[in-house]
Amino acid sequence: MRVEYCLRVISEEEALEKILSAVPSSPPTEAFLGDALDRFAAADLFATIPIPPFDNSAMDGYAVVAESATKDTRLKIVGEQPAGISKNLSLSAGQAVRIFTGAPMPKGADTVVMQEETQREGDFVLVRTKQISEGDFVRQAGADLAIGQQIIKRGDRLRATTLALLASQGIRSVTVGKRAQVAIVTTGDELVAPGKKLRAGQIFESNGVMLAALVGKADAKLSMRRHCRDNFDDLCEALRDATQYDAAIISGGVSVGERDFVREALQEIGAEIDLWRVAVKPGKPFLFGKRDQCRIFGLPGNPVSTFVTFLIFVRPVLLQMMGAAEIGLPRARVRLGHEISGDETRPHYFRGELKDGQFKVVGRQESHALFGLARANALLRVKAQEKLDAGSEVEVLLLD
Ligand code: AMP
Ligand code: MG
Repeated sequence: MRVEYCLRVISEEEALEKILSAVPSSPPTEAFLGDALDRFAAADLFATIPIPPFDNSAMDGYAVVAESATKDTRLKIVGEQPAGISKNLSLSAGQAVRIFTGAPMPKGADTVVMQEETQREGDFVLVRTKQISEGDFVRQAGADLAIGQQIIKRGDRLRATTLALLASQGIRSVTVGKRAQVAIVTTGDELVAPGKKLRAGQIFESNGVMLAALVGKADAKLSMRRHCRDNFDDLCEALRDATQYDAAIISGGVSVGERDFVREALQEIGAEIDLWRVAVKPGKPFLFGKRDQCRIFGLPGNPVSTFVTFLIFVRPVLLQMMGAAEIGLPRARVRLGHEISGDETRPHYFRGELKDGQFKVVGRQESHALFGLARANALLRVKAQEKLDAGSEVEVLLLD
């Protein structure tokens, strides 16, 4: 049976549920911290050393006993404690140890007086601070992080600061989800690679680079990229190759035109087509299928449709494959800058600019209008027949 007779247009929610059911997860792998940025932790991790590991000074100055270091007191300097090596110094009331930032506190000292608040007088130091409280400028062992405290949850994205936290625990490598391997196939006789000469009726191919960038931003790995003319045999070959990977993303050729060969080509290579056509604007001709381990996404070729369907249907799958806990786009509650009316029958993703807490649509809102899209930094999903007033509070999806 031809695909169009057996598949009905389904809702976005139903489509997402189908697409996200039984996503195969990539096996975990070990990555050095230097290669682990934006990867996803495959296991929980707990602190094995306290941070700071020992009581130390937060300032260059003098370690003292607070009680004996009142204003205008002269304290005898009994040693010097640099950072990096513990000299096991100790002191008692009336004494001071010259100390530097990060250096271990001498035994008996409970406070540091900062250098700027003192005056050196030979072997003595004069305290100038008006008020000293016990514990001033001392970083207590374990105050930031105690042994056994959870530092990473499985599925967490490893950010620059998480990598630093791992390094501070002496960790060199971390178990993360393997990067999903992705193939991109763009289709269309009218498309010409940038840099080549454009003839009458042709346009430059722009979805390929956009999809490659989006795949990279999702931290998946681009393993194949090919442009294919609207030729059935070429397409079958390209799709056979593309479906060797974890995900195959096809741009164009999924609509109802005579030269939209993607559905037939997928059937020809034995792929299963799970859904075709979703009630969403833009992006209605979207297709999803499988071939062995590979998840196949047929994105409509209009650039805005390609972009929106990638974000709402492809990105969550790639993230889930790699073990991410959070697979949705970041959201923000903002004010709407003007009134907006939804489409009659489908939810509509409006492209807009979010500035100073206010969202306004930007550029033309048709599915080919790439210029407007390129200026947008947020998407607003307006339900079918929904009417929103200027100034109302809405939730937008953040793009960058
Ligand atoms: P299709 O989905 O193949 O029917 O294409 C829909 C529209 O998107 C047509 O106007 C195409 O020229 C355009 N289009 C398709 N693929 C691309 C691409 N890779 N880059 C830029 N425009 C494209
Ligand atoms: Mg086409």
